[in-house]
Amino acid sequence: MKRIYFDYAATSPLDARVLAAMQPYLTEAYGNPSSLHHFGQTARRAVMCAREQAAALIGAAPDELFFTSGGTESDNWALCGIAAERRAAGCGAHIVISAIEHAAVRETCRYLETLGFSITSVPVDYEGMVDPDDIEAALGTDTALVSVMTANNEVGTIQPIAEIGARLHARGIPFHTDAVQAAGHIPLDVNALQVDALSFSAHKFCGPKGIGALYLRRGTKCAPLLHGGAQERDYRAGTENVAAIVGCGRAAEIALAEMDAEERRIRSEADFLRSRLSAIDGIVFHGAQKHCLAGILNFGTQALAQDSLLIRLDLMGFAVSAGSACSAGAAHPSHVLCAMHLSEEEARRAIRVSIGRFTEHADVEEFADTMTQIASER
Ligand code: PLP
Repeated sequence: MKRIYFDYAATSPLDARVLAAMQPYLTEAYGNPSSLHHFGQTARRAVMCAREQAAALIGAAPDELFFTSGGTESDNWALCGIAAERRAAGCGAHIVISAIEHAAVRETCRYLETLGFSITSVPVDYEGMVDPDDIEAALGTDTALVSVMTANNEVGTIQPIAEIGARLHARGIPFHTDAVQAAGHIPLDVNALQVDALSFSAHKFCGPKGIGALYLRRGTKCAPLLHGGAQERDYRAGTENVAAIVGCGRAAEIALAEMDAEERRIRSEADFLRSRLSAIDGIVFHGAQKHCLAGILNFGTQALAQDSLLIRLDLMGFAVSAGSACSAGAAHPSHVLCAMHLSEEEARRAIRVSIGRFTEHADVEEFADTMTQIASER
């Protein structure tokens, strides 16, 4: 049976060009970048090149980028590291986040609460949009840090990061954004966005899993998360995962070069799918119409229960999701959809279809036909 992958927001397939770039570093070029001999220096040069490629994706300088094991580590590091430095400097112990953050941010904040930090979670509107006025209203004299995701992983809503960044910069409050879903898909420039820290992860843009980066604006104080060797300029200890770093760099390079064309193609496929699905009785789309990632469609219908629909689609060869991969199978409804004022019942009916680089038009057509067929059986 042909299987069609519609879960790009969970993870994306590795691009063959990325694999080709990584391969030498999994075989003959196995040196440790810290070694002074030829093997080490070959690996070191590869890491430097990848750092330039990855930094270019977000308009950063290479020395502002630190490789990590992915989005989760980058988020943990930014929040814990900046919060610790700010509290130590007497700047307070209050953190502001949005109500729709990924678990990597939410759970880190829960951990920080156990260390005495207080957290304010700012609500979103029906489209999953954060209002910069609400962020500003949540600030106190003791606010150490603000973190708002660039784009949401369940509904794709893109947040007004530059506007929030401008307001926080004016007040001198550090601003972190989780750009794990946005990076590689929409243009990002850390200076235009006025962010001090930004997380991203290569597996969301056809790079390998287990590698990502944290951008830290020069001068942003962020205590290390890992202690040990002097790798990543003393900030992130541990022998570099050279092949993965090379893959991250190459994936970033491809994503940047092909972003406009890819975005246009994916948007047109998503528009086509949305218009076909709109014919289904009682279908409701969740998320922003305008400021939204091209590849994510989140919807529910009154007639179709989420679990049985997901299983049925899987049996028919379509891999879609109930929301974030981390909450799939969870007994509770999506906190994102609930924050967007959907009822628990509506949230439990929602499914996420996410398409990407290797999605073909015929796949989208087939899915639209299948959904129409399933809906007509009710
Ligand atoms: N943040 C967001 C918005 C995500 O979508 C994800 C992954 O689903 C993460 C963080 C975690 O990234 P990683 O899987 O690289 O740890």
